Amino acid sequence: MRALDSIRRLIGLNSLRGRYRVVALGMALLVVFGIWVAEDYVGGVGRTATENMAERNDAVLLSRHIRDDVWQAELTLHSFMLAPDIDQRHAVHRHLQRAIRNAGLLARSPWVARSTVARIAREAGLNLEQLNDLADRLMGLRGDPDHLFPAMRILNEEMEPANRDFLSATALALEELADDEDFAGYRRFSETRQEWLQLIIALRIYLINITGAFGDSLSELQKAQEAQVRFRLQRVNERLVGLGALEEKHGFGMQASASLAVMREQASHWAAGYEQASEIYRGTQWRTDVPLIKDSVQPLFSSIQGNLQAIDQVMERAAALDVGSLNRVAGGITHSLWAIIVTAIALFILAFLYFEKTVLSPIALVAQALRSEARGRRSAELPVTDATETHALVEAFAEMRRQVHQRQRQLEYQAGHDALTGLPNRSRLMERLAEALESAKGERQPLALLVMDLNRFKEINDTLGHEIGDQLLQQVRNRLLNTVDEAFDVVRLGGDEFAVLMPGTGRERAVAIAAEITEALAQVFTVEMHTLFVGGGLGIALFPEHGDDNRTLIQHAEVAMYVAKRNNHHYAVYDIELDQHSIRRLALESDLHHAIGDGQLELYFQPKVNLTNGQTTGVEALIRWHHPERGFIPPDELIAVAEQTGLIKPLTAWVLETGMGQRARWQRIGIEVQVAVNLSVWNLQDPELVTQIRDGLDRHRLPAHALGLEITESAMMADPERALAALVELDAMGISLAVDDFGTGFSSLSYLKRLPVDELKIDKSFVMSMNEDENDAAIVRSTIDLAHNLGLKVVAEGVENQQIWTVLEFLGCDTAQGYYMSRPIPAADFEQWYQQNLWLKPEPQRLHA
Ligand code: C2E
Ligand code: CA
Ligand code: CA
Repeated sequence: MRALDSIRRLIGLNSLRGRYRVVALGMALLVVFGIWVAEDYVGGVGRTATENMAERNDAVLLSRHIRDDVWQAELTLHSFMLAPDIDQRHAVHRHLQRAIRNAGLLARSPWVARSTVARIAREAGLNLEQLNDLADRLMGLRGDPDHLFPAMRILNEEMEPANRDFLSATALALEELADDEDFAGYRRFSETRQEWLQLIIALRIYLINITGAFGDSLSELQKAQEAQVRFRLQRVNERLVGLGALEEKHGFGMQASASLAVMREQASHWAAGYEQASEIYRGTQWRTDVPLIKDSVQPLFSSIQGNLQAIDQVMERAAALDVGSLNRVAGGITHSLWAIIVTAIALFILAFLYFEKTVLSPIALVAQALRSEARGRRSAELPVTDATETHALVEAFAEMRRQVHQRQRQLEYQAGHDALTGLPNRSRLMERLAEALESAKGERQPLALLVMDLNRFKEINDTLGHEIGDQLLQQVRNRLLNTVDEAFDVVRLGGDEFAVLMPGTGRERAVAIAAEITEALAQVFTVEMHTLFVGGGLGIALFPEHGDDNRTLIQHAEVAMYVAKRNNHHYAVYDIELDQHSIRRLALESDLHHAIGDGQLELYFQPKVNLTNGQTTGVEALIRWHHPERGFIPPDELIAVAEQTGLIKPLTAWVLETGMGQRARWQRIGIEVQVAVNLSVWNLQDPELVTQIRDGLDRHRLPAHALGLEITESAMMADPERALAALVELDAMGISLAVDDFGTGFSSLSYLKRLPVDELKIDKSFVMSMNEDENDAAIVRSTIDLAHNLGLKVVAEGVENQQIWTVLEFLGCDTAQGYYMSRPIPAADFEQWYQQNLWLKPEPQRLHA
């Protein structure tokens, strides 16, 4: 197996390129081999065919020469037979001799010698020789008429003399009888002579007809002519008999008697000759050359022609066979071509299918996988292929997919988990809760969501540092995991907030678990030698009673948690009866987290005006929150929320920073008013406050008197010792301090005296109604007196109209703040207001009306 593999690798079969090379080489070899075989085969067949054809051509030529010569010989022979001529006799021999020679050549010619026609050619040679001899004899015969016509001799030697004698005897007789005109003898001799002559004519006609034709037997005409001859002969004999009778009766002269005797003799002699000749004429041998021609020469001619024809036929057949074999070769080549083409097409198809299987479809599958990967779907199975190229592609893709998946998993994990504790985070909780609610709805099962917040965690974090805080959080995580059922999700919501998702859990079990968690958290924590007590506030919301969606359930669990904390309980189950106010409050709490950093806060400024000269001495910085959903949130509410959530610290820091920044900008344009910032009770407890303020002043290069601080009477009283320490420090720095909302609390004057404050701000509730309410007017008046006695300046807030202004001025109040002069306005608006110097030089009637 391994050896096979290494061989495959060696010839490159493991790569597509290698396979293509091998297949292409194979195809090329196949084609070359096919061409070679075809060439060899065709060459061989063609060579034999051409050789055969050349040899056959020679034979055909010889055969044609022979045929020509034989034909010429026959023609010449016939012509000789009609009119013998010595030249023609030579010509016949010349032709036949040449034909004989050629027949010999033909019999010996290579193609004929190899084939079956050799025998025929030899036979033709023999026939020709025989023909030559016969022709010789025939022509010899034709030159000798006596031999040619056997009857001729009888005619010439027997009958002609008889005729002559007969006629001369007749003539002698007539001569003798001529004188005797009355004598019947003369007439009778003359008539006999006439009859004789008629006989000779009849013979002549008969002979003419006989020699004029080469008929096989006597024709009807000849028969009639022969009968005519016999008839004439009989008439002659009758005349002769008549003459004989006349002689007996009358007697003739000597001459006439002698002539009659001769005539009788010659007539019978003639008749005998005629019998002989006609006998010959009636037979076949009347002409000796005819049977020779008919029986020997003519058959020889035809057999020679037959021989030649046979030879030609064989040669034609052979030629046809050769053409056939050539055709077969052509057909074979055509077939081979077809076979090669079909093989090539089949190979192409196979190659394409193979290409499809090994390249195209893997690529398509990879592409499909890529697409579904890109759409985040579960990607298809990757193709299995052994070609290096596609294999490499598939491998690369698989690797990429592995890494992408791994990274995705990491990202998902990171996105869904908290880095510090490794617990699922808030966004993960949202998913899990949605799923759990879905199945709880389907299965009609209860579900409980527990939200918890550590007590004092911020303090620990701030005082002992983040590292300790982090370790504490990890320990809290461990305790939670140990306490809670494994099937439940423990989630870190952020900061010191955790949640536990408890599917299938109703109220009682949820409460029991909350108790267990409280118990676990109540145990002391030890972090790096620090012994820490960390309690927690737990809130529980239940499905379906308290909500059936993520948002409601989480919000209600948080509400329950705040309720627990506010009531100093460890845990609480959400109560539907809780007033809507607290729900809004709680919702605001969570939103305020973001508001501080998100630029949703803005600082407004309200002027404080000197009642004596109308000069603007300062501004109070007042916070404004434009909630993106709820709109304008009243500062009182906002501050209350901030105080409850501990957000008052960052909030105050923001106000201080913004206020000082603004004061510094104003300083640069010549507006030197004091910016007063409100402090909450919690701010006074903050050990960092003083440093923070000092740093701020330094950073903005502001003198201490540029900043004022307003602290409510109740705030100062909450933790007097602590507040005092901070105030003393701030006062020492040169910052002016005001007691805000004076009159609403129950501060002891003796204590007030101890405070390093510079200013009293009479609460607006007294000021606004002092013209209507005598009590309020009395409070305002006595407060002004008291403050002045203590060496403090007095600010009246809530100055809404001119009357109040006038009364306050009359009462000797130092400063006024209120809607009459200006509502709290943005910094830019204040600049404009300030530049108009509205209150710098108050008109006398306004002041003294
Ligand atoms: P406050 O310190 O007593 O501030 C004065 C409040 O009286 C402001 O209300 C002001 O708009 C309002 N006021 C001034 N003149 C008049 C007037 O002629 N008529 C009427 N009816 N009201 C007048 P605002 O801005 O609503 O602030 C309410 C409270 O929110 C403030 O009372 C203060 O206790 C608190 N607050 C506002 N900003 C801050 C802040 O930055 N830090 C802290 N700790 N508290 C703030
Ligand atoms: Ca104030
Ligand atoms: Ca006030």
